[in-house]
Amino acid sequence: MPFSTSDVLILTADYTLTPTQPCLRLSIATPTPKMTSTILARCHCSLFHLPLPIAPLPHDTILCHCAMCRRITGAPYASGLSIPSASSAAVAEAVAKAGLKVYIAGPKREWWFCAVCGSHVLVRVTDVKSEEKGGWKVMVGAIDGIVGDGGDGELRKGSLERVVGNVFVEDTGDGGLAMLFQGGEGERKVKYWEGDVGDREIEDINKWVTTRAEVAEAEAPAEERLEASCHCGGVRFHLLRLDDDTTKKHRASLCMCRSCRLSVGQSLTAWVMRIPFNRVIRDDGRPVDNSLFGTLRRYQSSEHKSRDFCGTCGASVLCYDRGRAGVVDVLLGVLQSTEGVRAKSWLEWDVNGIYPGGDVVDKDLQRTVEENYKRLG
Ligand SMILES: [Zn+2]
Ligand SMILES: [Zn+2]
Ligand SMILES: [Zn+2]
Ligand SMILES: [Zn+2]
Repeated sequence: MPFSTSDVLILTADYTLTPTQPCLRLSIATPTPKMTSTILARCHCSLFHLPLPIAPLPHDTILCHCAMCRRITGAPYASGLSIPSASSAAVAEAVAKAGLKVYIAGPKREWWFCAVCGSHVLVRVTDVKSEEKGGWKVMVGAIDGIVGDGGDGELRKGSLERVVGNVFVEDTGDGGLAMLFQGGEGERKVKYWEGDVGDREIEDINKWVTTRAEVAEAEAPAEERLEASCHCGGVRFHLLRLDDDTTKKHRASLCMCRSCRLSVGQSLTAWVMRIPFNRVIRDDGRPVDNSLFGTLRRYQSSEHKSRDFCGTCGASVLCYDRGRAGVVDVLLGVLQSTEGVRAKSWLEWDVNGIYPGGDVVDKDLQRTVEENYKRLG
């Protein structure tokens, strides 16, 4: 990965949680003056890339499950690490060099994503009430690994984050995928708040977990279409139920592969898999057909895969695989099920493992997620 020393940022590890700002918070819970890790932050196409020397990893992170974070990223949550204001100028320089696009969803945040690959790599705090006003956060999924200590510049994979809290969980309607982050290293207690940090805590995140049998017994809602939209509304479509299956449910799966991570900007993605074209209806009434519609832009993330994202808000929306004709994958984050994020009458979760399993940057986080994923009905 080409970068010069002028790109290097110094992060000071003096951040603590403040209960004043919704979304995308970060804590570096164990401050230390020793700088021993350098991470590489980048988007998938590498137009944006920035080495960041930071306190030893892993860092404690808080995941935001609010609808805005989900619909801007396409991921099931969003999470970022704060960068101190002393480094703002260097970040801004890298942003300009990469030609990142900005999406302004409200007065509190600017969301910066790559115009070429769609990866949401940075957020800038614009909330006038925030102590971090003007500061930048790097999205956790945009961290590609730890730059080698031996001066060889080689990237090493490793434990990058410890999820310690989840905010705006009530916004999901059914707990979303927040239950995937329980336990882990040392079986620590992960916190779940209904809203922001300091709001009412959810005592048992597993209260929403239903077995497959319970889901099957539940009365199917009348809803015959499942609406989907990115945050800005430039891409709209809906899903129809499968017509060639007894449950009529679509298959859903998780992915923590490096390609998803760097394309979306979050550590975990969730997908509705291999949906026949005639089950995904665009807002002009036509089924998807591998062509672009609305504000979609396309990025070829590998020889076989193309990823479509919204050119206005940057949400990751669809993925086509050249090897699988006539079907498309849809990102969970853009779905708007009235029954909750997991859309249990629509989706059957493949709990046998994370797809495709290999190439995961943060293996420790993967183990935690996999352990909890087995319990999802
Ligand atoms: Zn949020
Ligand atoms: Zn890019
Ligand atoms: Zn959009
Ligand atoms: Zn993936």
